[in-house]
Amino acid sequence: MKFSHSKLLNSFSNLTHAFTTRESGNLAFHVNDNEAHVIKNHESLAEKLGYNKESLVHMKQIHSDIVHVVKDEDFNTCPTCDALITNKPNTPLMVMVADCSPILFYESEKKVIAAVHAGRQGAFKNIVKNTVESFINHFNCEAKNLHVSIGASIGVCCYEVGVEIYNEARTLGLEYALDIRDEKYYLDVNKILKSQLLTCGIKEENIEFLNKCTCCNTDKYFSYRAEGQTGRFAGVIFLN
Ligand SMILES: [Zn+2]
Repeated sequence: MKFSHSKLLNSFSNLTHAFTTRESGNLAFHVNDNEAHVIKNHESLAEKLGYNKESLVHMKQIHSDIVHVVKDEDFNTCPTCDALITNKPNTPLMVMVADCSPILFYESEKKVIAAVHAGRQGAFKNIVKNTVESFINHFNCEAKNLHVSIGASIGVCCYEVGVEIYNEARTLGLEYALDIRDEKYYLDVNKILKSQLLTCGIKEENIEFLNKCTCCNTDKYFSYRAEGQTGRFAGVIFLN
C-alpha cells in the first residue's frame, strides 16, 4: 500500500491528496538518508499524484504554531513553519511526519487548502486555531465549510510522556487527553486536535481520522518513537 486516501477529501473532484506510507519511501532530506533516493521518492510521488515536483512546497518544521501563506518565491525555498495555506491551483503542499499528526484541510466554498504538522507541541500551542484563523482572515473562509483529514500518527496506546508533560497538559486544561496505565502517563494528541477543531466551529462530520498508530504499525509507517533514526512519510494536497 503506497497511499491512503481520505474518503472525505476524495469527494471533491477539484482536489488531489494522499497520505504516503513506508512503501512510498522516505521523503525527508534531513534524516541522513541518501539524497538521490529521497529525490527519487519525490519524483515517483509527483508522477503518481500528477503534479510537477518543482511546484511542491514543503516546510522546515519546528514544532511551532506558525502558519505560512504560500507566496510565489516559496517554490525554491522551504519556509520555516508548521502550516502551509494557499488558494493557488497546482501548488501541492506537503507535511512530513513520523509520529506527529499530518493534517490536511480543505475549504470547499472559497477553495483553499492547508497542510499542517501537529505533534504534542503543535497541539499544546494550538496550531489548529491559528490555521483556521488564517483561512478566515486571509481568505474570507468560513469554518463550517472546512473539511479536515488527519493521517496516521502515534496513538495513546504508545505515546508515553514524562511527568513534566503530564503536568503541562493539566495546566493547559487538557486532562481529558491524558491516560494513566501501570503508573505511566500517556497522551492522546488526536483527542486534543479534535477538540480544537470542534472549538473552531468545524462540523464533527467534516473531521476524519485515519486512526492508525504509527508506533504500532512500523511495517506501514515511519515512527520516531519506535525506531529513533528513521524516515518521514507525508500528507500532500493540491487544487487541480
Ligand atoms: Zn500504538
